[in-house]
Formats: sequence, structure tokens, C-alpha cells
Amino acid sequence: MQTFAYRRPASLQEAVSLLAAQGEQARVLAGGTDLVIRLRSGDERPAFVVDIKRIADLPAGIREEAGRVTIGATTTMTELAASPVLRRHFRALAEAAAVVGSVQVRNRATLAGNVCNASPAADTAPSLLVYDATVVALGPGGVRRIPIDDFFVQSGVTTLASGELVTSIELPIPGHRTGAAHVRRTRRRGHDLASVTLCCSVDEAGVTRLAYGSVGPRPVVFTDRTGTLADPARSDEAGTAILEEMFAGASPSKRSMRAGPEYRLAMLRVLGRRALASAIERLAEARANG
Ligand SMILES: Cc1cc2nc3c(=O)[nH]c(=O)nc-3n(C[C@H](O)[C@H](O)[C@H](O)COP(=O)(O)OP(=O)(O)OC[C@H]3O[C@@H](n4cnc5c(N)ncnc54)[C@H](O)[C@@H]3O)c2cc1C
Repeated sequence: MQTFAYRRPASLQEAVSLLAAQGEQARVLAGGTDLVIRLRSGDERPAFVVDIKRIADLPAGIREEAGRVTIGATTTMTELAASPVLRRHFRALAEAAAVVGSVQVRNRATLAGNVCNASPAADTAPSLLVYDATVVALGPGGVRRIPIDDFFVQSGVTTLASGELVTSIELPIPGHRTGAAHVRRTRRRGHDLASVTLCCSVDEAGVTRLAYGSVGPRPVVFTDRTGTLADPARSDEAGTAILEEMFAGASPSKRSMRAGPEYRLAMLRVLGRRALASAIERLAEARANG
């Protein structure tokens, strides 16, 4: 591992000044479950590593206020998976967090790190897209609010500017009753990244949102506002036509070591239908529970 300077700022101002001064030479360290591996392998050779875990004024934990839920940048997957607030309003995100890596990984890995790392296979990305999350970033120019769909560019690349730090991720609480589910396919149980990771939501107004990752350079989201997918009595033909349009956004790599493109596309179709059925079921449950 190449030598680097380690900094642990105590305030946001200090962190932003450090990041702005070092630019491309600096890397943010949160849980380190992605970054430390790349430091060890030499894939990343920053001159500065800025540890954000001891910043007193960085929003912490999960807060519900003013019609939205705010998740602080250092919030771990373990916290997300156990959160009653997420289980109530954003169940699919809690489900996604619960399957990331292993217990040890989830105890370190943060949600902000998962999105900033921008792996096409990031398990939290599909649910964040479905729930229309906003990434809140702080940089030398002040606060910037980035819709999650405008955040991902391609593997390892986001629209976060050099010197910017993600401080939180916000989720608007849905105005309608919603059912949602996260599903994924991995090569084996445990610690592998997904071959397909997917989230589907259906709301009372008949809007269906489907997002998926690991089958293209970045995770993508599609919306059906016709009410067709949300209707459990739809014909197979009508449902298939819309789903196929959504699946057409997939372009799995031929070079991946995890799964071939044909397998991923087949699994995308299976998981898409499975998640849709589960979302419809959960919406019915939500209605039944008042
Ligand atoms: C064994 C193992 C299994 C895994 N399994 C899965 C899995 O099943 N599903 C999955 O999705 N992921 C998996 N991962 C990947 C990883 O755990 C996640 O991507 C994790 O959420 C990253 O968060 P972190 O806090 O550890 O980020 P770090 O490693 O600290 O950082 C990751 C990247 O994001 C940047 N960054 C972090 N926080 C911020 C911030 N606040 N502002 C700006 N930039 C920031 C860092 O500079 C770095 O480039 C696995 C990793 C391992 C080692």
C-alpha cells in the first residue's frame, strides 16, 4: 500500500477545506469497505485520506421530519436494516441494506459510501431510485442537492464534484400508500455482489416504478403511470409489453466474471416479475391495515 496522509477533521468546515485544498489527491473514508480494498490493491493512490467518522456537525443517523427522512452520511447498513422508520416508509431500502455483504461489512458500510462508490451492482441504488432520493452534498460552493437519478454516471463515476462531500441522503415520504420490494440474485449466498439487483414499487395511484442494477454501466429506473402494471387483474400480454420496454434498458457486460449477459437478462425478467408481484401484495397489505 502506498503511503498517504491521514486526516480526521472534527468539523464540516475543516473537512470541506481539506477536500477543496487537496482536490483529486484526496479520498473520503467512511466505512472503508470499498476504499481500503482499493488502497491495498494500489488501484487508488491518494495523497490524502480524509476520515469523516468523527465530524461533530455531520448529520448522524436516520431522522424523520417535514415529510421526509434524512439519512446521515455515516449511517451504516446495519442501522438502516434495523430502522423502524425505514421499515415503515421505505421497506425496500431496509431490505437492500440487510443483504449487503456480511454482518461485519454491514456494521462498517455506509449508505453514502455505497452510492459514492457507484458500483452498478450497489444494492441500495435501485430502492433509492424508486423512492426518488436526493443526495445532499457540501463543497466549497455551498450545499448542492442532486436527484439520485442525476448522481450516477457509470461504474465508479458520479456527478459529485472534486472537493464535495455527501452529508446526507433524503427520501420524500410517499404521498400515497405504497408497496415495494427489493430482490437480487448473487452467485452464492453471503459476500458476493449481485448479478442482478432490483426494486419495484406500486402505489395507490397506480404508479409503478422499477429500478435495477448490475446489468449495465449504472443502475436505471423506469416508471409506468398507465396503471397497467399496478393492476393485479391485467392481462399477461399487457404487463409483458410494458415490462419488456423497461428491461430494454439493460446492457450487461460480456466480460463480467459473475454471470453471462444471457443469464443476467433472464434473471432480470424473473426478478422483475417477482418484485412486482411482491410490491402489489404489500400494497394490498398496507390497504388492509388501514
Ligand atoms: C466482502 C464485501 C462484500 C460486499 N458486498 C456488497 C453487497 O452485497 N452489496 C453492495 O452493494 N455492496 C457490497 N460491498 C461494497 C461495500 O460494502 C459498499 O459499497 C459500502 O456501502 C461502501 O460504504 P463505505 O462506508 O464502506 O465506503 P468507503 O469504502 O469508505 O468509500 C467508498 C467510496 O465512496 C467515497 N465516499 C464515502 N463516503 C463519502 C461521502 N460521504 N462523500 C463523498 N464520498 C464518499 C469514498 O471516497 C470511496 O470512493 C461489499 C464489500 C465487501 C468488502
